[in-house]
Amino acid sequence: MDVFTLRSGIMHAEDVPLPAIAEAVGTPVYVYSLAKLTERARAFRQGLAGLDRPLLAFAVKANPNLSVLRVLGREGYGADVVSGGELTRSLAAGIAPGDIVFSGVGKTHAEMTQGLEAGIGQFNIESEEEGRELAALAASRGTVARCALRVNPDVDARTHAKISTGRSENKFGVPLGRAAEIFAALASEAGLEMRGVAVHIGSQLAELEPLETAFGKLGALIAELRAAGHAITHADLGGGLGVSYRHGERYPTAAEYGEMVARATKGWDVRLTFEPGRFIAAEAGVLLTRTIRTKRGGNGPPFVVVDAAMNDLARPALYGAYHEFEAVEPTGARAVAHIVGPICETGDTFAMNRDCDALEAGDLAVFRTAGAYGATMASSYNSRGFVPEVLVDGDRFAVVADRIAPAAIMDAERVPEWLA
Ligand SMILES: *Cc1c(COP(=O)(O)O)cnc(C)c1O
Repeated sequence: MDVFTLRSGIMHAEDVPLPAIAEAVGTPVYVYSLAKLTERARAFRQGLAGLDRPLLAFAVKANPNLSVLRVLGREGYGADVVSGGELTRSLAAGIAPGDIVFSGVGKTHAEMTQGLEAGIGQFNIESEEEGRELAALAASRGTVARCALRVNPDVDARTHAKISTGRSENKFGVPLGRAAEIFAALASEAGLEMRGVAVHIGSQLAELEPLETAFGKLGALIAELRAAGHAITHADLGGGLGVSYRHGERYPTAAEYGEMVARATKGWDVRLTFEPGRFIAAEAGVLLTRTIRTKRGGNGPPFVVVDAAMNDLARPALYGAYHEFEAVEPTGARAVAHIVGPICETGDTFAMNRDCDALEAGDLAVFRTAGAYGATMASSYNSRGFVPEVLVDGDRFAVVADRIAPAAIMDAERVPEWLA
């Protein structure tokens, strides 16, 4: 179900016309659909219906907005966090500590302590060094940290290099070949309850096969650990399921994913955790922007200069990512154009030679599939403010993150006396 649809020639988010949001909140602005978020969350759960009580931990980094987390919490989701800030948000959104998994290669002692104090469900340990430090912290507090060891299976996820995490040259996890030895070393620590293993090989995966290969390796490791006398009760299969950013692209469905998982994990006899991010949130959001002006090009097509920029939506600049770009009130006229933002950097280009709806100064447009890795990657580069976020539910909407004005950002800066 597409929730960003034309009605009487005007694009709506569910039942709210996008011009009404632009009028009330200004542009650029992220607009999320509660119905779509819910639909995706349920579709993912439904795809895994054949498994026994899986923990679905939403990867908070995909969209950490408090209201988004609240919606997912209501859908029974836990959280996969990668920083103290994400942990704070997840707790504030009402996610049960026991349903929170803490991933990441650089957890600081302060973050580990925060996780221990909150009583989170699981730390995913990414190195022997980290495990030892966590053990000492837990022991000194007289507590025990529940842990899984994240392994690096050396599998090519066949995705963009910057979001590939499961090759041996990537920083994530411990090498599969050393996993049993490191697991045993950490299992002897009094401060740790080493109860499982974890894997996450990358994001925006277009195929299931690399995942299945990685899960196969994880299954072999579980057998090896059990043979060595360890009680393995949990396995975390990470996230990574891709979504279609271009009309007409076909990506694995939750049902296909679930079927593969059931096959790959048959007989494991563990509680499985999943960490979907993009799959849940991407299609639930658009970035709504207004055309500032069109500018004639050199030899090529014209530039459509919009008021959104790479600081608001970084994916095109960061990964060369494609986002569908559509007029909010299309006239039927089409044009080939370069879509760019106002930032003084050529990287601030959303699309080159794009065949899209013809736009004139003042016209509204959207970048689709912007609900994941959108607002959360925003910066204030060029002293632009932080883009606001709106959540739509049927015919109502609410600002769920305020625009942060450039002046408010400047307020946090100080000029020392010796410069005054
Ligand atoms: C980013 C990340 C995820 C989520 O990835 P998606 O592709 O958004 O599903 C899950 N687990 C870990 C450890 C991550 O770093």
